[in-house]
Amino acid sequence: MSILEAHELYRFFHIGDDETAALRGVSLTVSRGETVAVMGPSGSGKSTLLNCLTGLDEPDAGAVLIDGVQMSRRAEYERARLRASNFGILLQAGNLFQHFTVAENIRFQMMLLGAVDEARLEALVEMAGIAHRADAYPANLSGGETARAGLAVALSNNPALLIADEPTAEVDAATERRLLDQFDLRRETGLATLIATHSQALANRADRIVHLKDGKLDDK
Ligand code: ADP
Repeated sequence: MSILEAHELYRFFHIGDDETAALRGVSLTVSRGETVAVMGPSGSGKSTLLNCLTGLDEPDAGAVLIDGVQMSRRAEYERARLRASNFGILLQAGNLFQHFTVAENIRFQMMLLGAVDEARLEALVEMAGIAHRADAYPANLSGGETARAGLAVALSNNPALLIADEPTAEVDAATERRLLDQFDLRRETGLATLIATHSQALANRADRIVHLKDGKLDDK
């Protein structure tokens, strides 16, 4: 059973008279328990694809289904609910609300689904190696701590699908190890992970690699 299905996604950007076709008919499925890596050069459409898959952006054509439920072309509050109940999202930056502490960021994510689980919060900050910084505000965290806090937030609700954009770019070795351990653990427990990455080493740990080139899947 697929947790995520994307059918023929198109996304165009216009700046003045110039049109960029960032996605040109991309179809993709991710099954439960599967780890999929999306690779491709800069500008190939990886971030645009992730934004459309998570519903943070709307494709101009095509459809995204989460666990069989259509996400595209729904009201933002419905997309937000679908996102919260199915996805953990780990972006390259901007994963934390600046006016919340690390712990408050995690509680807020949990509240989106209705219940704060303090025991799970403690386990999450331990896992991410930021228990000692749980009461710190994002502005006072180091780069590695920020990345690890983002991981804890993304995993707050034990999401069926974790979507991560370049998760190992510019993180220290310890943080990278924690990320990779989490990806392996998710696979073992039947949870799915979709990673956009430039790192061949990271992609090699996925069950499947899909290549994007000029907004299309490159089946080589
Ligand atoms: P990648 O993540 O693989 O580097 P992107 O999805 O960021 O690729 O970009 C794909 C193409 O779409 C690029 O040519 C980029 O310049 C363009 N693009 C992405 N976002 C926008 C935007 N908001 N406005 C205009 N062009 C954009």
